Amino acid sequence: MVYFIGAGPGDVDLITVKGRKILEMADVVIYAGSLVSKEHLKFCKGNAKFYDSSTMNLDEIIEIIKKEDLESKVIVRLHTGDPTIYGAIYEQIRELEKNNIKYEVIPGVSSFTASCARLNAEFTVPEITQTVILTRLSGRTLVPDSEDLEKLAAHKSSMAIFLSVHDIENVVKKLINGYKDENVPCAVVYKATWEDEKIILGTLKDIADKVRKNNIKKTAQILVGYFLRDNGTVSKLYDKNFSHEFREGLND
Ligand code: SAH
Repeated sequence: MVYFIGAGPGDVDLITVKGRKILEMADVVIYAGSLVSKEHLKFCKGNAKFYDSSTMNLDEIIEIIKKEDLESKVIVRLHTGDPTIYGAIYEQIRELEKNNIKYEVIPGVSSFTASCARLNAEFTVPEITQTVILTRLSGRTLVPDSEDLEKLAAHKSSMAIFLSVHDIENVVKKLINGYKDENVPCAVVYKATWEDEKIILGTLKDIADKVRKNNIKKTAQILVGYFLRDNGTVSKLYDKNFSHEFREGLND
């Protein structure tokens, strides 16, 4: 049996109780070492076997599962955040079905909600917007034309943009064209809930500069929309109660 489990965004206690319980029973854990904290593995049995999938391709992952499943073990495929969002589980599930291997998907805390929580914000502020758009720039995986960032931004909804901070200039250009406003509040949350988390606040006009200065190139959420201003988030973040670490991102 294979369990696809959402490990959460970083902080090991942000896995679900169900996910943690299965992890404790697991015989084999295949985890995405680049984004999943190794601390999760401390909860496993002493004789559990670990594989880091960050250097493996799909065939290699499936080969391990097939080999291990023949011995009817509990196999955990540990994904970052929530496995149903940019988790690439579909291609794995297809192979498991071909091989008649049973599986279950256990949800997790996605980095987009974790990032919003770190800002003490709410995506769905009444009378501002009731819609959240999750998206990304095209990369090796193409985004359909109908979902181009500029077209999505025209809705003026709250947005959480994954997998795109390396090209923040392009993101900002498309967003300004779509929102038709360069003063839309924007926050970039790097490694939300990890110890080296960084939060950068700004608007579409200045966020790209700030992101460059802070040398953020990956593992960040770009949150955009009027929800960040109108619920007071920005002023709260300047409050003296916020930690020094928090302030680093704010200072430039
Ligand atoms: N399934 C994951 C997303 C995987 S795609 C989830 O639900 O969060 C990887 C992208 O997620 C990264 O490029 C980044 O945009 C975002 N991401 C993952 N972990 C993050 C974190 N702790 N803080 C901010 N963004 C994160």
